[in-house]
Amino acid sequence: MQKKQSNEYLDTVIIGSGLSALNFIETYSKKKKINVISPNFNFKLSGGEIEEIKFLPSQMRNKKTQVENYFIGNNLKKTKNCKIIGSLDQGGLSNYWGLQIDNYINLDDQRINKKTKNEINKSFFELLKGCKLLGNFEFKKKIYSNEYKIPNYLEELKKKKFRNFNLQKPILAFNKLLKNKDLNSLNENKNKLNSSNFIKLKKLKSRVHLHNYYLEGMCRVGKKIKLICKNREGYKIFIANKVILAAGTIATTKIIMEFLNVKHEVKIKHHPRLISVYFGKKKIKSNLKFTPSLIQFIGKGKDNQFSADFRPGNKLITESMLELSKLLYPFKFLINFVKDRLIFSNILLSSKYSGLYIKNNKSKFYIYTKKNFLLNKLKEANFKTFSFLLKNKLIFPFFKTHFPGIGSDFHYFGTLSINNNSKLSVNEKCQLKNHKNIYIVDSSVFNFKSNKYPLGIVMANARRIGKLLSK
Ligand SMILES: Cc1cc2nc3c(=O)[nH]c(=O)nc-3n(C[C@H](O)[C@H](O)[C@H](O)COP(=O)(O)OP(=O)(O)OC[C@H]3O[C@@H](n4cnc5c(N)ncnc54)[C@H](O)[C@@H]3O)c2cc1C
Repeated sequence: MQKKQSNEYLDTVIIGSGLSALNFIETYSKKKKINVISPNFNFKLSGGEIEEIKFLPSQMRNKKTQVENYFIGNNLKKTKNCKIIGSLDQGGLSNYWGLQIDNYINLDDQRINKKTKNEINKSFFELLKGCKLLGNFEFKKKIYSNEYKIPNYLEELKKKKFRNFNLQKPILAFNKLLKNKDLNSLNENKNKLNSSNFIKLKKLKSRVHLHNYYLEGMCRVGKKIKLICKNREGYKIFIANKVILAAGTIATTKIIMEFLNVKHEVKIKHHPRLISVYFGKKKIKSNLKFTPSLIQFIGKGKDNQFSADFRPGNKLITESMLELSKLLYPFKFLINFVKDRLIFSNILLSSKYSGLYIKNNKSKFYIYTKKNFLLNKLKEANFKTFSFLLKNKLIFPFFKTHFPGIGSDFHYFGTLSINNNSKLSVNEKCQLKNHKNIYIVDSSVFNFKSNKYPLGIVMANARRIGKLLSK
């Protein structure tokens, strides 16, 4: 890349174009054009060596270059046992996400005040309504409902009370008013709430001025912020009055650590994940290529800080199974034959069991893991889920688990949390401590202990800040 300098002066600049950035944009301004710095390169960046990414979630198979660029562009190096991913791409990870968000906004963070929690709930309600998402939600006696059908025996089970589990139907991030309540009538490509569909739905294209660069670093020049950006042609400097960071937790944290010259290790919170496969007693027929989860099992009590879901087998997941374990290949036909009876579950632990760290060492950022008792905890959680399903006669008495590695839950958060009293924190307005013109609107600002599918809250919060700044 050749060096080339030409400064451009801007008022408000948003970094990133994932769902947190887009929700901010929608509520921030209906009239003004908004400047967004977010890369969209389909060529591999040069300049960094990274370990080849061998396995990507099935939804992201064709995005290897953008994932590799994420590490090169953001100058991140990860250890072999650390399975995080990111994407240096317009739309970010939210282009590929797995479609469920929690309908309980249990913002369990004691440091966030009640007023803020109420505003987030209000924005969540607006998000559901504005995007016609599937599911139910109640806030201050107002009810949002866009019901979808699940098999009767699951619906009946959901009505019962259990000592160790709460059973819930998640919100599914599909944009459609389902008159017949049948998930099979969805058009996956058209109805999925990903970034490109969100842009179309909210007519954001004409409201955004997109700068195809990635942000390499930033520093202060008086009251303003200097943004050092890069693409194939070279460097470009933007000078901004206000910067809104929505580059996803890992990139945002790295940018802020460098900006504040933080040298100590920082813990990245996440939800360690185990994938389980059970064999259902009844078939569940789905026409979708990637079936969403139909019900969530949320562990109750101190020893049950995990959630599990119930997702019927589908083509994309069974293909991934075969790719992961070549030994299963001779059984391909059989696996596809019984696909409608396979039940997949993501067992997600509380952020208390997080095991990811980031540290700046000589201007290179390392992401690594430490030894912990994660796998035992995950297996324990799986056994509780398995026993529950067995006792309720939903499955046959065997299971298979797969641990995809630390960080492969793809929920990264909690590095710059609200009111945590350290240098690395934001206030209730999501302004970086001591830097009032830098706002952070992605997951970095939350510590999701009980919420296990956090994107709904993240989008709601980005909307709250958008509204706040528009005043
Ligand atoms: C396979 C998969 C399944 C998932 N399933 C679920 C689910 O079911 N439920 C749930 O709640 N969550 C799920 N998630 C997590 C969810 O996708 C993320 O929480 C969400 O994408 C976060 O959105 P974001 O906009 O904050 O960040 P991102 O989507 O990561 O977007 C970040 C943006 O910033 C840009 N960027 C990065 N670095 C720079 C830089 N240096 N300069 C400029 N721009 C930059 C990127 O190109 C991108 O546009 C899943 C994730 C994956 C990968």
